[in-house]
Amino acid sequence: MDLAYPADAEEFRAEIRSWLEENLPAGWFDEGFSMTPEERSAFNAEWTTKLYEGGWICASWPTEYEGKGLSILQNVVLNEEFARAGAPLRADFFGDTLVGPTILQWGTEEQKRRFLPGILRGETSWCQGFSEPNSGSDLASLATKAVRDGDEWVINGQKVWTTQAQHADYVFLLARTDPGAPMHAGISYLLVPMRQPGVEVRPIVQVDGSAEFNEVFFTDVRCPVDNIIGGENNGWKVAMTTLGFERGSSATTGYRRFLKEWDRIVAEARAHGRGDDPLVRDRLVRSWQDIKLMQINGFRVLTDALNGTHEAAKLNACNKMFWSESHRRTMELALDVMGLDAQILVGTGDVEGFLPGNRRGRDDYPVGDLQASFFFSRSETIWGGTAEIQRNIVGERALGLPKEPKVDRS
Ligand SMILES: Cc1cc2nc3c(=O)[nH]c(=O)nc-3n(C[C@H](O)[C@H](O)[C@H](O)COP(=O)(O)OP(=O)(O)OC[C@H]3O[C@@H](n4cnc5c(N)ncnc54)[C@H](O)[C@@H]3O)c2cc1C
Repeated sequence: MDLAYPADAEEFRAEIRSWLEENLPAGWFDEGFSMTPEERSAFNAEWTTKLYEGGWICASWPTEYEGKGLSILQNVVLNEEFARAGAPLRADFFGDTLVGPTILQWGTEEQKRRFLPGILRGETSWCQGFSEPNSGSDLASLATKAVRDGDEWVINGQKVWTTQAQHADYVFLLARTDPGAPMHAGISYLLVPMRQPGVEVRPIVQVDGSAEFNEVFFTDVRCPVDNIIGGENNGWKVAMTTLGFERGSSATTGYRRFLKEWDRIVAEARAHGRGDDPLVRDRLVRSWQDIKLMQINGFRVLTDALNGTHEAAKLNACNKMFWSESHRRTMELALDVMGLDAQILVGTGDVEGFLPGNRRGRDDYPVGDLQASFFFSRSETIWGGTAEIQRNIVGERALGLPKEPKVDRS
């Protein structure tokens, strides 16, 4: 098997590498580099503009929508180089990775012109309004309703676990538009402005003190009829595309963050005199093997994309199940090797980076890196489809097992 990339992909790699070296703050690549909370927020504020000017946000999008039209391999190289440098590549996860690509695939020309520029420039932030109190894994049973009133949809209902709803300008929301139709058939995918009367966002505070997700209540909330993506009552198909992007978004780079973290855990094991403990060593090796498997699984996804064999749904379900469960085990190991030290709050309380995994609790509950990662790992087997649901997908679609029996809800 030849894992080398072609020469033109390597040329592109060099171009990105030098852009990163020129644009990241001085000292970024040095051992022990850190920023104060003030420096970090100044960096975050400037970085999105730099990314936009460099053309790196959503660079795989076609040039007619202000992307760079990167090939699949170029896009992989771009992701790899940003991951290697530890530099954020996104303006807004939900916009860049989920709703943007969904609009590109399903939106009308007018919708693309209206919504994509705001995502590319990092000007519009988004949240995902799928889950409800009684509809998570069983998403098609959702009860939020949208009723047409002239040129508008009027939305009533409740969503839950809505990450970043407190900051979002828009929600991409699933609502029932035909209550008489079979469960999957009567749903539509709507783009709804969040800053309007009738939208109430209530934060859900977690055990580490952070509150990045919310309950969101909709009472007679409105959006234009034209804000429907993929047509009336076609929302289920559109939503499945969004979930596909969510499950596969970091296929070839995701393992890197785990590898970096693994190095930290090995250092903690040594520092705590556990480096010679055969049981600890055994668990460390198992984690390392898992990370290597994640890397190989990433190559599988890439090969599928390059060859156009369209197995992504199956592969992504396998991978999501595997990395999320493995990471949970690894973080349990991390806390085990730290022993009682793991109970001491050693973080700074500031929120670093752009991704939820980097959170640091709050001032009076300042978790450190590994503690934050431990807490977040508990959620990774849940968001984006639970590990059990991924198993169902793998069983039915990849292994051809019989379909799960339907539950009678009458
Ligand atoms: C950190 C985080 C962020 C999130 N952000 C968002 C967001 O921004 N927007 C959004 O819409 N949602 C979000 N979610 C919600 C997430 O999508 C749901 O939690 C997830 O789909 C599971 O639904 P549920 O919580 O209702 O659990 P349930 O569906 O009630 O599941 C409970 C348990 O039963 C198991 N189970 C259920 N059905 C089956 C089955 N058929 N076979 C086997 N086992 C089954 C599940 O695996 C799970 O263990 C987020 C969740 C988390 C943890």
